[in-house]
Amino acid sequence: MKCRVCRGEAVIDVRRHNANFCAPHFLHHCEEQVAKTIADFEMMSHGERVLVAVSGGKDSLGLWDLLLRLGYAADGFSIGLGIEGYSDESSEFARQFAKERGVTLVEVDLVDDYGFDVETGARAARRVPCSACGLSKRHLFDKAAIDGGYDVIATGHNLDDEAAVLFGNVLRWNTEYLARQRPVLPARPGFPRKVKPLVRLGEREMAAYCVLRGIDYQVEECPMAEGNRHLGYKDALNAIEVQSPGSKHAFYFGFLDKVAPVFDEEAEAEKEALGRCVRCGAPSAGEVCSFCRLVERAAKGRRT
Ligand code: SF4
Ligand code: ZN
Ligand code: ZN
Repeated sequence: MKCRVCRGEAVIDVRRHNANFCAPHFLHHCEEQVAKTIADFEMMSHGERVLVAVSGGKDSLGLWDLLLRLGYAADGFSIGLGIEGYSDESSEFARQFAKERGVTLVEVDLVDDYGFDVETGARAARRVPCSACGLSKRHLFDKAAIDGGYDVIATGHNLDDEAAVLFGNVLRWNTEYLARQRPVLPARPGFPRKVKPLVRLGEREMAAYCVLRGIDYQVEECPMAEGNRHLGYKDALNAIEVQSPGSKHAFYFGFLDKVAPVFDEEAEAEKEALGRCVRCGAPSAGEVCSFCRLVERAAKGRRT
């Protein structure tokens, strides 16, 4: 197997691009893909302050590393979710990364700062754990970026993630979610701009990137993810990709190109509908936002 660029010994094949790469040229390929994504979707510029949502996994740490290598002023943000056998380890990987590079990691802890962990919060609010977790993460990322004066939040969603979410939303025709599924969500009052610079890179490429760059990351998946529909969609798409390399890319980028504009009106309408949470001031459809309601229910759940 020869590197497409230098004809030296290749260490990875990327079937989607019909190409093999040696280690240095693979790392260069990843940087190029991210730089191209940032430029194509006008995600951010070099003078801006970026907050990277860091879980301690390969995607978020790989993204943080890539943005630093591309010269962006990127700090990390991690949330202690209180998930046993997972959260402490994840935070440790994020701290180690920051320490080794002398970069800033902003941390918030659900238990210490808000008095509940994902599991008890979910139970009290009668939500599934991933729903309580997702809404907490979104709220706290937005808050951290706004409080810290960051221009943009970057998340490590890769091509596999985005194609699987799209697949699920199309299967159920969740048009409200389809309207929001973009690699860039522009800023609006109370929400910073959000970008996904890894949408051109797959899961396997991100794992290889971290290994080749010597980045230690949390390999274990969150125990709550088990049985998650999303994982089933990933498996289905992986089976299709084996038969027909490039399908995920064509599915996702075809959507952005040909279908997403259909939902522009729906996305606009949603923007206008929001007021402010009377407790925390965050944008909210109701008087009290869903995060404040979750905090309240978790506190009640603890007392009973
Ligand atoms: Fe949160 Fe669910 Fe992801 Fe675990 S799998 S980190 S509970 S969203
Ligand atoms: Zn090479
Ligand atoms: Zn609130």
